[in-house]
Amino acid sequence: MNVQVMAHWFCGACDVEGRDHATEPSCWNCGGTVTVTARPTVPAEAAAADSAA
Ligand SMILES: [Zn+2]
Repeated sequence: MNVQVMAHWFCGACDVEGRDHATEPSCWNCGGTVTVTARPTVPAEAAAADSAA
């Protein structure tokens, strides 16, 4: 089954959080290293169906 990893992360320097499909995401604000708080996998097929709807 094809799955994608969606990393949930937090940047302590900027006090912002975000989600990224990258395995090693970086902060969209400062571009620095972030702390990944969760790394759930989502079915790629479900994601595709979502965007197609
Ligand atoms: Zn940051």
